[in-house]
Amino acid sequence: MVKPTLGSRASLAVAAVAALATTASAQTFRRSAACPSLGCIYPPDQSSFIAGQVFDIRVEIQAPANGSTPYNNGVPSSEFALYIGGKGADMQEVSSFYDREDPQVESYNFTYYEDLFQKANDSATLVNVLAKSYRHVTLFNPGEYELKLQYNGGSETLAHWTVLPLAEARQAKNVILFIGDGMAPSMVTAARLLGHKTVNGKYKSRLQLDESEGFGMQMTHSLDSYITDSANSATALMSGHKSTVNALNSFTDSTGKPYGAPKFETIFEMARRLYDAKIGIVSTAFLADATPAAVVAHTPQRGAYDYVIDQFLDGGAVAFNGTPQNFSWTQWDGPDVLFGGGGKDFVPKASNKNVSKIDRFLERGYQWSTTNSTLAELDNSKRALGLFSDSNLPTWLDRHVYTDNLASFGAWAPENKTFTAPTTDVPGLKDMTLKALDILHTRSKHDGTPFMMMSEAASIDKSMHVADYPRALGDLLELDDTVRATLDRLEELGIREETLVVVTADHAHGFDVFGSADTEYLAAQTTIEGKRDAIGTYLESGLSGYQVPQGVNPQNQSEFVGPQGPGFPVTWEPRYTAAFGLAATVDQYEDFKTHPSVRATSLEPLKNGTYRASHDDSPDGFFISGVLPTSNDQGVHSLVDVQVFSFGPGHELFRGMMDSTNIAQKIAQVMDLGRDKKGDLAVSQRKGKGKGKGEGEGKK
Ligand SMILES: [Zn+2]
Repeated sequence: MVKPTLGSRASLAVAAVAALATTASAQTFRRSAACPSLGCIYPPDQSSFIAGQVFDIRVEIQAPANGSTPYNNGVPSSEFALYIGGKGADMQEVSSFYDREDPQVESYNFTYYEDLFQKANDSATLVNVLAKSYRHVTLFNPGEYELKLQYNGGSETLAHWTVLPLAEARQAKNVILFIGDGMAPSMVTAARLLGHKTVNGKYKSRLQLDESEGFGMQMTHSLDSYITDSANSATALMSGHKSTVNALNSFTDSTGKPYGAPKFETIFEMARRLYDAKIGIVSTAFLADATPAAVVAHTPQRGAYDYVIDQFLDGGAVAFNGTPQNFSWTQWDGPDVLFGGGGKDFVPKASNKNVSKIDRFLERGYQWSTTNSTLAELDNSKRALGLFSDSNLPTWLDRHVYTDNLASFGAWAPENKTFTAPTTDVPGLKDMTLKALDILHTRSKHDGTPFMMMSEAASIDKSMHVADYPRALGDLLELDDTVRATLDRLEELGIREETLVVVTADHAHGFDVFGSADTEYLAAQTTIEGKRDAIGTYLESGLSGYQVPQGVNPQNQSEFVGPQGPGFPVTWEPRYTAAFGLAATVDQYEDFKTHPSVRATSLEPLKNGTYRASHDDSPDGFFISGVLPTSNDQGVHSLVDVQVFSFGPGHELFRGMMDSTNIAQKIAQVMDLGRDKKGDLAVSQRKGKGKGKGEGEGKK
């Protein structure tokens, strides 16, 4: 029996698309996610379930043939069994617990590097695997469960699972979940500084987020890394389960495949299944991107965009690129509203076998829109698809201030059916969210059902990755404006009292403001030392230059209103800008100015696959040394906890310190999604075993 010690974990080295999450420079590797021994159980130890939530169980028996923990010449024992029971109750085999045939055993192998030395020498460890998956199971009875995997002649892996308590009452009919992607608390503070005026140290107006009825923080860590990406962090928010970087509503098994991994149901899927809830998905990103995908898609590889688009329409049991999935999953025939960018993934192309995904939506009765004007005209009683750009939508700053940039974004060109037309008539987060709300409200009212919406301000994150702080903060202010407008619309519709609104982030970026920058003095200096003198700290940081017109001293106490109205800067190009900085940055030249063109990257590529700071990006700026590997082409996410703002019924639950998974679990509690399905096999099997009520973490 082999008991590997911690520290020898290594990654399966599943190739990730570099732009999604950089794995090439990882400093700690592991053999398999959440599997420190050679026997793996998914869902892993410490998993919590909403009662009745559908999921898959998978076990893997691994036998390394070489490396630091070889086992039996790489031959796993074919004798292994998974048992389930309550605390103190008899354990029984999972197949008898669920009264089903034992699933077929899969046999395959994979390789991984145990550390950077092994990787540098290209001496991978080979691991042979036996595995089986129990598909589409549920647990209805709240309380504690114990799983035991027996394998390799006497080894054991244990997992403790909790089924959360049932809600005592349904507190809200509808839920709107806003996600500010990458929105660190420090960025909320900076956005307030740019968008609102202080007089003698106190704000004259504040953010809508500042008025939240419930306020808390949440921890964003991944299942197997403390820095998360947007796929597995959105997974936690929408399904209540931690996962691995790049994974959407599934665990990352060792097959290396984008399909077939053990899945779990999202709260959106549950609400559709239980209540026929109307579902809206809105994002300023391309729609196949991680956060919108996490509402309904299941794959350990977020980069499988065509698979994600198919799952929007057909759900988690759809075939992958012609490979049928031989299991049932939650019935799903598409969201009621799908608004965002990413038209490129819906048009016919080689990777989707030249099938128009737009036509597939239209065949299913969707109306569709490609401009802001036609968006407004959509029939509120019908399902709708809105594709407003080739890829990500232009940021708020490009739509309102630097509008010349719109031409490069690519809108729908009907004559050749591509997203190549100039983008001028393009909606923002507020336009899309309010229209989605109107459609969801009309449809849910007609059918007497609830609705749920996920609305994502995606370019907060996308701009932070390329150190474009003004664009990030502009989109954060747009999110705040959208939340305010949404609460007003809920009031107008008479459903404010029955709709919970939660605003949170999926992770942070290492950003803060440490003073001000005199951009005119900075540009006039020729030495690094001289340029750095342009930074004003403490007393010299002064007041927000964004809240006075150009040429007016920031100390002026008059209240000015800019062209975009209150809640936004009076100017985006003040002489005295905020001195922004990142904790996790690549090399860059920084001039602290708002760049008129999108800051695609502050780096220029070198032939050997590394990058150096681009002086052309900020010709007036001074050089700032990065801290990330020179192979990184952009900044990365950071550790700090993020905020949870809540409004409306059930907001009391979202106070204090939470885990990211608690967001989905608390929404489920507020909507009463947990089911104690009498007569279900799992319930009858569990009866009479003297098990008390569980103390779930979802309990108030
Ligand atoms: Zn990101």
